[in-house]
Amino acid sequence: MLGATVPAKGGYYMAFKKADEWRGYGSSTKQEGIERIILALNKVLEKYNEKAKILLETMAGQGTMIGSTFEELSLFLNKIKKPQSIGVCFDVGHLFMAGYDMRDNKGYKAVLAKFDKMIGLEKIKAIHLNDSKTDFGSHVDRHISIGKGKMGLEIFQTIIKDKRFKNTPKLLELEEEETKKSLKLLQSLLLL
Ligand SMILES: [Zn+2]
Repeated sequence: MLGATVPAKGGYYMAFKKADEWRGYGSSTKQEGIERIILALNKVLEKYNEKAKILLETMAGQGTMIGSTFEELSLFLNKIKKPQSIGVCFDVGHLFMAGYDMRDNKGYKAVLAKFDKMIGLEKIKAIHLNDSKTDFGSHVDRHISIGKGKMGLEIFQTIIKDKRFKNTPKLLELEEEETKKSLKLLQSLLLL
């Protein structure tokens, strides 16, 4: 049920993204889907006593996928047992596809302030850095190398320079060659 594990300073994080329930609610209603996720999470958490956190990833909202709004994420975090074992993987590409505009500094600040108010910035335990092949608010999940998509570079520069996330693991979800190119670009943005 759990997805890939990601090594990080002081522990391991697990992404819950691969769970079927997280991928969509199919022919049932959204509410039923949300309840199924809460049930599944609680079932996992019942026997879960590890130090590693289970992370819920912000999604693009494609099809019947759940988890693309801060409202939904905060609902899960409020309804599960052992909320201390749960964190959030902040996927900037997915958030762009879902309609959270962080392309300039003003938007970035506003989105993060909203997240902080509803969920808490300390819940962000990993960041996925992907550019989006699809338009803002498209709800269509297609990743592309940084700088080649629709998001511009400012958001990436802002987030990698944000001191609040200095120790937060940042990951690219691209093919190997694309990852190398994107990493080079990120390094140059860090120096600017
Ligand atoms: Zn991701």
